[in-house]
Amino acid sequence: MSTHTVVNPATGQPVTEVPSTSVEETDVLIERAADAFPVWRDVAPGERARLLRRFASVVDDHVDELAELEVRNAGHTVANARWEAGNVRDVLNYYSAAPERLFGRQIPVPGGVDITFHEPLGVVGVIVPWNFPMPIAGWGFAPALAAGNTVVLKPAELTPLTAIRIGELALEAGIPEGVLTVIPGKGSVVGERFVTHPLVRKVCFTGSTEVGKGIMRGCADQVKRVTLELGGKSANIVFADADLEKAAASAPYAVFDNAGQDCCARSRILVERSAYDEFLERLETAVRGMKVTDPADPDSEMGPLISAQQLENVSGYLDGARVAFTGSAPDAPGFWMAPTVLLADDPAARIWREEIFGPVVAVMPFDGEDEAVRLANDTEFGLSGSIYTSDLGRALRVSRGIEAGNLSVNSHASVRYWTPFGGFKQSGLGRELGPDAPNAFTEEKNVFIAND
Ligand code: NAD
Repeated sequence: MSTHTVVNPATGQPVTEVPSTSVEETDVLIERAADAFPVWRDVAPGERARLLRRFASVVDDHVDELAELEVRNAGHTVANARWEAGNVRDVLNYYSAAPERLFGRQIPVPGGVDITFHEPLGVVGVIVPWNFPMPIAGWGFAPALAAGNTVVLKPAELTPLTAIRIGELALEAGIPEGVLTVIPGKGSVVGERFVTHPLVRKVCFTGSTEVGKGIMRGCADQVKRVTLELGGKSANIVFADADLEKAAASAPYAVFDNAGQDCCARSRILVERSAYDEFLERLETAVRGMKVTDPADPDSEMGPLISAQQLENVSGYLDGARVAFTGSAPDAPGFWMAPTVLLADDPAARIWREEIFGPVVAVMPFDGEDEAVRLANDTEFGLSGSIYTSDLGRALRVSRGIEAGNLSVNSHASVRYWTPFGGFKQSGLGRELGPDAPNAFTEEKNVFIAND
């Protein structure tokens, strides 16, 4: 059997070998998930809810173990990794309320009664990237399972360990065999099979825009349902009337968290010209103060990049760029890079247009609200963004003007599992999380019953 070597990005050392599942083995597991579907669909709503709550509780018992695995596998800081494992627990708990609340409607019609049902789809394929292995897996499987589907889940080749462990914890919690199946392997083999296998009724993909477009094309062949969560190049807009101290203190965390490998990274900072110098000065202090250290250190605020390849790709963006200042990074083996702030004046430059997916941010001045919105929207992406201002009217006008799915005012946080998450334009298709997520894993069925 072929395997993939998992590497610790903080040291460059191998951690373990993980099997690369073949197409034939993938087919067997998809068929098993299809066999498990009618059984899981017919588990009474209250019982399905109870099993999901038990799954959440077993994850809770293993938060430290899962976090430790993620530190070693993905180089996430231990504080982030604990939050991520806790997020899987919380999302399971949140959607455990859904089976008992999967309401249809009764619609007034002449001649009888009309009611709607939300029917589960069958097998759902969830494809996960390497940047947030645990949360992104949970955002797919928790609402899908709650709605009565079975799930096959493919973690990224680089970061399969926590997903494999979560699959084991599901069984431990009493989720029946075949209901949640984790299938490690290559995107071009396992992921591609989710797209082409007729028993997989929906693909939930998170990853690069380029691969996402191919998945959407592939799904068209079977009119397969598809959700895409793709790249971003989000703007952090700082107006002169903002609390500049707060805006500058939070800006590094808005982009350098997870070493910038975050689809919501605010990797373009737009600063109103009259506040530009003061903001940059304060930003420099904040960036230099970031603790970029061994991710297992509880105080670490940023770890390494995921791989040597990623380090090379990201470093490539610095060629010819104007570096304003950088933070620090350990001079050690592993894929380390210091947080880097670039000065930008050309909206056509690669550093301003492309998703760098590393600890690099570009800063540009603007004049007035209209220009801020125009510059923020001058991108094919539209995932998230922040607006720093003390003027409520302006905060609302700019929020409504920006073409992006998830905005924060005077905050850099993007994802809350209670609220819908997804992208405008080429950042994605469909929404995850929030109260409506289980419905996205169902078909709405209408039934008319004649009263004569
Ligand atoms: P990627 O597109 O290379 O891979 C994502 C997943 O797709 C992996 O599991 C991979 O194995 C699989 N895959 C690759 N080729 C495939 C194919 N032909 N068919 C089916 N599956 C295939 O992305 P990545 O490098 O792992 O992740 C980084 C990207 O993900 C960034 O662009 C980032 O912005 C994006 N991202 C988006 C969100 C969001 O919610 N919008 C969240 C996290 C990451």
